[in-house]
Amino acid sequence: MLHCDTYLTPASLDEAFDAMAAHQGRCRIVAGATDLLPWAREGRAGDVSIPVLIDITRIPEMNERRIDDKRVRLGAATPIQRFLDGPSLGRALPGMPRCAVWFADDQIRESATVGGNIVNASPAGDCIPPLIAHEAEVELAAKRDGKIVRRRMKLDQFVRGPSRTAIEEGELLTAFECDALAGYGGSFEKVGHRRSLVISVACIAALVKLDDSGRGFEDVRLAIAGVGPVPQRLSDVEEFLRAAPISQERLEQAAEMPVARVQSRTRQAYRREVLRGFVMRGLINALRRAGAGPEILAPELEASYV
Ligand SMILES: Cc1cc2nc3c(=O)[nH]c(=O)nc-3n(C[C@H](O)[C@H](O)[C@H](O)COP(=O)(O)OP(=O)(O)OC[C@H]3O[C@@H](n4cnc5c(N)ncnc54)[C@H](O)[C@@H]3O)c2cc1C
Repeated sequence: MLHCDTYLTPASLDEAFDAMAAHQGRCRIVAGATDLLPWAREGRAGDVSIPVLIDITRIPEMNERRIDDKRVRLGAATPIQRFLDGPSLGRALPGMPRCAVWFADDQIRESATVGGNIVNASPAGDCIPPLIAHEAEVELAAKRDGKIVRRRMKLDQFVRGPSRTAIEEGELLTAFECDALAGYGGSFEKVGHRRSLVISVACIAALVKLDDSGRGFEDVRLAIAGVGPVPQRLSDVEEFLRAAPISQERLEQAAEMPVARVQSRTRQAYRREVLRGFVMRGLINALRRAGAGPEILAPELEASYV
């Protein structure tokens, strides 16, 4: 059970930093609490008493949304559900809607935030691979000498290991910015121990843009999580596919390439097999959503990887 004496809901970043300074060493940041509550409840941390919880979800900047042709900026407290609410965000970030579809259930999706998922840095946190594929940068802020100072870094450098990030004491994750990739097809595949409310053992995000002929790859972006301590971009596979014609043989060769990356100590053979199938399924689904028809992707091939 999680106990707190005071629950604060600052209305601005300034207020949040002042509260953090006033309660230094006795407070914890909370957004949707969907990681914090189970951590405190399931005996992982036992009975937890945190004197002050500081809820950052009412801060307008944490809920910001800006979309232009090139970049998307979203506040850290953006709930996962927002990627399913309307077409505009999904169109700009085609890697996210399928991730949201497979994320928990309606109730959790409405509370759980992207920022909480990133800061929690679970080895298989679902938002991280699609955002890495979108070249996401995180923005961190702190208050020093009365002024709010900000720094940015790429998401794949921010995540340092299981539950470890580059966030420093007194910092908040305020926003993330990533490439807007309208016209790409996106997919997200994950596997876990059960079918509903599944926490990923491994997951992959694929983004594909077809060339003008519709028969070749113009661009490919792939990122995986759950096969090593940190999520990884599959740059060698991307390079192998970029500007190449689409064929079953090429897809199968691509799916073989990342298998050696599986570093997990448990269930290696299983994870390797899953990864091979994942890359195929991720690419096939992304190609379909990018507009590749049955003349490019044989329906039998698709059927064998559903
Ligand atoms: C039933 C259930 C199903 C789930 N399913 C999935 C799933 O399918 N996929 C998945 O990836 N996860 C899943 N989760 C885990 C969880 O929902 C996500 O990781 C979620 O995104 C966490 O966000 P939150 O806002 O709830 O984080 P919180 O629990 O509020 O916070 C998590 C951590 O991040 C810190 N934090 C939060 N926001 C900030 C910020 N802006 N700046 C600095 N620090 C911050 C908090 O201090 C805390 O340490 C599930 C959880 C439950 C309970």
